[in-house]
Amino acid sequence: FHPDTQSISYTTLSRFAPVKLLPPSSRKRVLVTGGAGFVGSHLVDRLMLLGHEVTVLDNFFTGSKTYLRHDVVEPFMIECDQIYHLACPASPPHYQFNAVKTIKTSFIGTLNMLGLAKRTKARFLISSTSEVYGDPEVHPQPEDYWGHVNPIGPRACYDEGKRVAETLTYGFHHQDGVDVRVARIFNTYVNPHDGRVVSNFIVQALRGEDMTSRPVNIGNGDEFTIGEFAELVREIVEKVQEEDGIKPARRVQIVYKPIPTDDPQKRRPDTTRAKNSLGWQPRWSVRMGLEEMVRYYKAKMAEGSM
Ligand code: NAD
Repeated sequence: FHPDTQSISYTTLSRFAPVKLLPPSSRKRVLVTGGAGFVGSHLVDRLMLLGHEVTVLDNFFTGSKTYLRHDVVEPFMIECDQIYHLACPASPPHYQFNAVKTIKTSFIGTLNMLGLAKRTKARFLISSTSEVYGDPEVHPQPEDYWGHVNPIGPRACYDEGKRVAETLTYGFHHQDGVDVRVARIFNTYVNPHDGRVVSNFIVQALRGEDMTSRPVNIGNGDEFTIGEFAELVREIVEKVQEEDGIKPARRVQIVYKPIPTDDPQKRRPDTTRAKNSLGWQPRWSVRMGLEEMVRYYKAKMAEGSM
């Protein structure tokens, strides 16, 4: 794929992060697994705007873009300089749909991609997750916390899959010298059908439905109880509706329901290491991100795609 062949809005993307085309000598052959998914498709857009040659592997289990159809559980060979290994269903309804397939994707898929990285000497990054901490007993969670995961609970296929994927990643690093990176991502802004707390609340509030609350805290330094988070979503949805001249017939209520099995009680990332070693810190507050999401979901509802 070449940047010229893709229809990407520069203005939209550059609003979020400025992108400068790299000189030809710095451009890489990059493989992105799971590149049709939410995080992957944004990553692919950015890599292509930088001028890299990008190949995307995806089995379209949850992704929506049209790229090379391939299941990472099957081996794949290509010459490449970097691998971003993102392939894995990420939201509970998706990963619990076929638990055995989910853990196979994390285990065998990661094994295949690490084998490829070893053969091609490509740098390898895996998108891991805050779920490796499970329902943590330490708060906030630094990277050296080992976690508290139920190995046979309903979330285990995802949590344990990512843990074994991390183990494999460091195994290939120590045994074979593969150059690896592990990013443990906390809840991101996501698609409307994702099924996690951020999207659920916005969809429910926009539809005028009561918000059903689960105790999951949101990553980023901004920490909320689930009740506070529901209040914030309601406030933002009301603001956006009011700006558009919409007056709902009644105020949506916040309804507390029992916690699903093994749902974490609270989580907040300790991002000290990311700040110190990568100079990374979130640029968007949760409020800013939520306002963008609410407008985006609203537009999707208006066009009938939700
Ligand atoms: P997503 O479901 O939108 O994307 C995942 C992609 O992987 C989809 O396009 C899907 O079709 C593809 N896929 C799944 N199984 C596959 C297989 N066996 N072979 C090939 N492709 C396969 O999810 P996302 O939110 O974009 O998450 C991307 C990555 O980031 C995942 O590894 C996820 O575990 C990790 N992550 C995401 C979040 C988040 O909040 N979004 C948080 C922590 C970690």
